[in-house]
Amino acid sequence: MWMGAPWPTHFPGAEVWSPSGVPKGLFTVGERTRMSDTIFSKIAAGEIPADIVYEDEDLVAFRDVGPQAPTHVLVIPRKPIPTVNDLEPEDAELVGKLFLAAKKIAEQEGIAEAGYRMVINCNAASGQTVYHLHLHLLGGRPMQWPPG
Ligand code: AMP
Repeated sequence: MWMGAPWPTHFPGAEVWSPSGVPKGLFTVGERTRMSDTIFSKIAAGEIPADIVYEDEDLVAFRDVGPQAPTHVLVIPRKPIPTVNDLEPEDAELVGKLFLAAKKIAEQEGIAEAGYRMVINCNAASGQTVYHLHLHLLGGRPMQWPPG
């Protein structure tokens, strides 16, 4: 289980989520603490409710409040990694667990055989809005390609 880790001193993409009044780009230790204070960290901590479909010591999965498909589940690590860009080699096992949990949830949701999509947005150009790493598991309808 994640027990805490040093934050990067510079956080690209900060302008997207930075609370008003917080200097953009470089952060003090105090500001870096705020990075973990996302809605998803609160869900992982049980501080705000969510429709949780799976959880273990490392991960939590819950239904997206704005579903884009009949099945739309978000799988997050409890560790508050902001984006894929912030992953470190030490996170390799955790990323593997994220995918294996998504696979298990797809089976639980009955979408595994028909097929599904997994999406991880990274930073503003991708459309990332919550800066706590999350995997979108989408299924239950045909998907188009290329994505929007
Ligand atoms: P992204 O745009 O990749 O950062 O995805 C963020 C997702 O989080 C969106 O699909 C939102 O609908 C979803 N979302 C935001 N707040 C909540 C919440 N409280 N519970 C569940 N899903 C949420």
